[in-house]
Amino acid sequence: MRVYNFSAGPAVLPEEVLKEAAAEMLDYNGTGMSVMEMSHRSKAFEEIITTAEQDLRDLMNIPDNYKVLFLQGGASQQFAMIPMNLMKNKKAAYIITGQWAKKAYQEAQNYGDAVAVASSADKTFSYIPDCSDLDIPEDADYVYICENNTIYGTKFKQLPNTKGKTLVADVSSCFLSEPVDVTKYGIIYGGVQKNIGPAGVVIVIIREDLITEDTLPGTPTMLKYKTHADNKSLYNTPPAYGIYICGKVFKWLKKMGGLEAMKERNEKKAKILYDFLDQSKLFKGTVEKKDRSLMNVPFVTGNEELDAKFVKEAKAAGFENLKGHRTVGGMRASIYNAMPIEGVEKLVEFMKKFEEENA
Ligand SMILES: *Cc1c(COP(=O)(O)O)cnc(C)c1O
Repeated sequence: MRVYNFSAGPAVLPEEVLKEAAAEMLDYNGTGMSVMEMSHRSKAFEEIITTAEQDLRDLMNIPDNYKVLFLQGGASQQFAMIPMNLMKNKKAAYIITGQWAKKAYQEAQNYGDAVAVASSADKTFSYIPDCSDLDIPEDADYVYICENNTIYGTKFKQLPNTKGKTLVADVSSCFLSEPVDVTKYGIIYGGVQKNIGPAGVVIVIIREDLITEDTLPGTPTMLKYKTHADNKSLYNTPPAYGIYICGKVFKWLKKMGGLEAMKERNEKKAKILYDFLDQSKLFKGTVEKKDRSLMNVPFVTGNEELDAKFVKEAKAAGFENLKGHRTVGGMRASIYNAMPIEGVEKLVEFMKKFEEENA
């Protein structure tokens, strides 16, 4: 039996995709082998990766002057790769809206002068700071954001005013959840294990002029965007099976109507949960309303014992992974693209019942 999996990542995938992959496990498309077993230089795999890229380009409307790279090392490796490739002036502006942004900021300090230009640490990252007129250094190579804060449940509803500087965004937990204007960014990247596919793949969408030989001295070959761009993500063995699953999820998203339709569906889903939280006498959301994420919804009862009881009883009822991040406690429901609306409706029913029983 499948449970409702509210994990923040690795997270729920569309059942249809998993079934298709299962059916193709022993014999992919007449090749007589699994995608896991085939050469990444084979005709069959070449078709898998080029189709995946094209479908992603279609979904996000990615302009021709952007490259799509399928890399490894997770989102965390990008924390270093970005400054190594982009910090020509050894200066960059970071907006600190949570743990992932902070980690990226700290990593960048190994390579140059990373400047924190805004932060919401004063209220445990429960809001997005006003970024309309930040003090961005004249010689900053880029401005960095974590667009959706997986742990704290906030999302930039408006991109920062970068004052003409290149915008770099970690979109790990909001990737493909709604349409984006790619032209506003220099780099959009994310680990796929939150909203797209299995762990082991990170997708980097990068404007071509940012791909240069001119990286920081000592940058390893594998950490140069140029290496991967010049070789169409096949410089070395890519995370082939993961890319194959991502490709299936792209097809699924197209079938669902694309990102406009996903946005509508995600808004509807999140509203069910937020509306309940807003009228509940027991549970409450922890994020400023205007900055609420559609993907990650943290909430608390205000009583740690009751939180633990809720998580335990929810698990027994088939709602998995509702415990909040270990650094913040409480609960968090991650309701990514693949979480069906019924999953959220049933969770709210369960929360209502729990509230009555524990009034
Ligand atoms: C999970 C997460 C990361 C870290 O991803 P890894 O692939 O484990 O390195 C980074 N940023 C955000 C926003 C995340 O949600």
